[in-house]
Amino acid sequence: FNLDHDVITGDSIAAADAASTPRRRSPGSGADAWHPQSWKAHPIRQAPEYPDADAHARVIAQLRQLPPLVLADEVRALKAQLARVAHGEALLLQGGDCAESFAEFSASSLRDTHRTLREMAIALSTHLPVVTVGRIAGQFAKPRSSAAEKIGDVELPSYRGDIVNGPAFDAQSRAPDPQRMLRAYQQSAITLNLLRALDGASIARQSRLYTSHEALLLPYEAASTHRDSVSGDWYDCSAHLLWIGDRTRQLGGAHLEFCRGIANPLGLKCGPSMTPDELLRVLDVLDPRREPGRITLISRMGADGVRDQLPALVRALQREGRPAVWICDPMHGNTQTATGGYKTRPFERVAEEVRGYFEVHRALGSHAGGLHLEMTGKNVTECTGGPQQLSEQDLPLRYQTHCDPRLNAVQALALAAVARSELAS
Ligand code: PEP
Ligand code: MN
Repeated sequence: FNLDHDVITGDSIAAADAASTPRRRSPGSGADAWHPQSWKAHPIRQAPEYPDADAHARVIAQLRQLPPLVLADEVRALKAQLARVAHGEALLLQGGDCAESFAEFSASSLRDTHRTLREMAIALSTHLPVVTVGRIAGQFAKPRSSAAEKIGDVELPSYRGDIVNGPAFDAQSRAPDPQRMLRAYQQSAITLNLLRALDGASIARQSRLYTSHEALLLPYEAASTHRDSVSGDWYDCSAHLLWIGDRTRQLGGAHLEFCRGIANPLGLKCGPSMTPDELLRVLDVLDPRREPGRITLISRMGADGVRDQLPALVRALQREGRPAVWICDPMHGNTQTATGGYKTRPFERVAEEVRGYFEVHRALGSHAGGLHLEMTGKNVTECTGGPQQLSEQDLPLRYQTHCDPRLNAVQALALAAVARSELAS
């Protein structure tokens, strides 16, 4: 990351005119015209219901005035790196918390996660250069399988991540509060500041850590979206890469509509319900120009499903000659409930999905582009197994996640070793 460069090209700091009418460079025209609010005319899933609409509107207006967290130039640099991954010349490592939280925010956990991602990237880079992207500095909003949670006779809205509401099971915590968006923005800015400093101080200085999160909370993402004065394109400046979750990737839905119009690289989660035909139609919407580096497909089929379900999707892209980065999220298809009620993921199942993913790509002559992990640099006890042979009885010791169970530093490095030996075979 070269600060001078970005200051010199400071022109490309996108103007904060997200509300202005779109110019010629925007995708689509007429009825199909895109603008940062066009998603509002589409059906939306997973959207919180704010009790006070005026308070929400005031916060959105404030957010629009705040500086971008990342610059268009940096986003373009990441896209160019991802194009190399799409061409089989590099690997992508994406990792971080399932959900960042206000309570668990400290220099030491950021430093440890940064260090662990670096160590994993070094382990993988014996084969190809590694592009590293954190699930960090903005990964606050969570999709939920049910809108409400019931304990005994009490039913309350589900926890949707610290950017929306609080995890404690009481009515006040669970009420969506728009002020949380401002706090999430501030925490993201502080996090990014430390990450940039750690990048500058680390030994592998040539590779920087880019940021990413799920583009779930669209009012926040739209308020972070600015027009780049150099290219005329729109960028969501809340992160370098944004991804669409497995629960919000419907054709015609609000999340696809928002994401199609931003020039950032996009991730797309592909779970077991994704069909080849649907995938191609989604890609026609998100990547009509077939631009290498634009799309990263994140398969999350589960250890039992990957060998059966991934090949048809990979073949569909090969048939169409579509460029894409394929990475493997071995976490979300391998979640189990342990005795005692803890959500966990056995390391061996996670490793098995990674092995299956490499096998499928090898068999089809496709580039296995890398990994997407929920991990932390801390020594948490959230996933069982791994080199420490954590058992279900160990889970209560340091179970700290605000959402899904993460690999700890030792498990994350062990998984990088699994990937490394697959790359060698
Ligand atoms: C996640 O990455 O935390 C997540 C919710 O994943 P998915 O959309 O694949 O379920
Ligand atoms: Mn998760």
